[in-house]
Amino acid sequence: DVDGGESGIHAFLHVNTDEALAVAAEVDAIRAAGGLEADALHPLAGVPIAVKDLIVTIGQPTTAGSKMLEGWMSPYDATVVEKIRTARLPILGKTNLDEFAMGSSTEHSAFGNTLNPWDPARIPGGSGGGSAAAVAAFMAPLALGTDTGGSIRQPGAVTGTVGAKPTYGGVSRYGVIAMASSLDQVGPVTRTVQDSAALQELIGGHDPRDSTSLPKPLEGLLTAAQQQDITGLRIGIVKELQGEGYQAGVLERFQEAVKVLEDAGAVVQEVSCPHFGYALGAYYLIMPSEVSSNLAKFDGVRYGNRVVPDGGGTIEQVMGATRAAGFGEEVKRRIILGTYALSAGYYDAYYGSAQKVRTLIQRDLEAAFDQVDVLISPTSPTTAFAFGEKLDDPLAMYLNDVATIPANLAGIPGISVPGGLSEGLPVGVQFLAPVRGDAVMYRAAAALE
Ligand code: GLN
Repeated sequence: DVDGGESGIHAFLHVNTDEALAVAAEVDAIRAAGGLEADALHPLAGVPIAVKDLIVTIGQPTTAGSKMLEGWMSPYDATVVEKIRTARLPILGKTNLDEFAMGSSTEHSAFGNTLNPWDPARIPGGSGGGSAAAVAAFMAPLALGTDTGGSIRQPGAVTGTVGAKPTYGGVSRYGVIAMASSLDQVGPVTRTVQDSAALQELIGGHDPRDSTSLPKPLEGLLTAAQQQDITGLRIGIVKELQGEGYQAGVLERFQEAVKVLEDAGAVVQEVSCPHFGYALGAYYLIMPSEVSSNLAKFDGVRYGNRVVPDGGGTIEQVMGATRAAGFGEEVKRRIILGTYALSAGYYDAYYGSAQKVRTLIQRDLEAAFDQVDVLISPTSPTTAFAFGEKLDDPLAMYLNDVATIPANLAGIPGISVPGGLSEGLPVGVQFLAPVRGDAVMYRAAAALE
């Protein structure tokens, strides 16, 4: 069942039935014929995948969850889409998200809510709620998400799925509609850690079309996920990512996960990252600054659905009407915040200071990874909250990202894996590893399965 409308979950904004079935039939035919072509098939060939609707695709609309792009068809494929097509994974369709990936609940989509399959009164996380709900509800075994401040990991946590953000530059951003370019990263949403590693290997690698792409691919991810041995692995519990603000049930499941890792032979100690308390503040200055710049092109002249005021108007009036009608409240809020933070006279006080904090957070993590191989924390301070609960209080919504944001600021990899239930709702456990340490992250995370 990939039809979001009929299932009621509304994970999909577009369902790509005919093409997906055609690709599946092609793979069946190649397998049936045998021979060299069958031997050369990628191990994931024929496994259906859902794609977050921030990633551009030929032949299917890409909306970014915004009225601004409603009806737009990309003339090209994102690099990650090219790769999944070449490996012959049938693309099931495009999944719902907060508008331009801004949010933690998918409630900011211009096209309606996605329901959490565990409890339809609750959010599926965000911004990639559609991808996570599709995997959690068994509509898709694999999905692609994007993670700027937690949008793969937090939906993973609240839907009981696995969500990984690779090392920055590990996966190409070409063809991914930019939210905050220095933070954005594409990654897998799956049911198991091994699937996540296999999918990251498929979509990753150098891309000359993305100037921030790492020169060498991150290798050995699947092997690491299959290792099944964490004897002697040094794991650090981040002191600053627990306690106040975290639900008791989340902390209980987290402690149990720590115990499982210890029993499996890991050496666990507490590690302090003293500047993590400033991460959220820095993120909510750097991210909107980049948003205000990246979204400037949606003005109805260069990009976006043009709105002409009644009786016509100047080009400024057309741009104004386009942006007023095309963007939702949260997007406008962030553009205003970012424009303010970058304006002359404030640049040093806000953006400049935030970049300094970013460096301090990177140094905290470097010091932590001198002592341990990976770090762990709860992925999100709470389980899935109810629709509407945080919608009128942007700060409360932002606070949900407290544990996921440091990884984006530092460019390190992070993964959320299911850690059991609290009052019937999934809890996520997050593993963080050093830059290019994706393999050790997968090795550690697989120990919780
Ligand atoms: N929830 C965060 C935000 O609203 C993260 C978004 C994301 O990772 N795309 O910015």
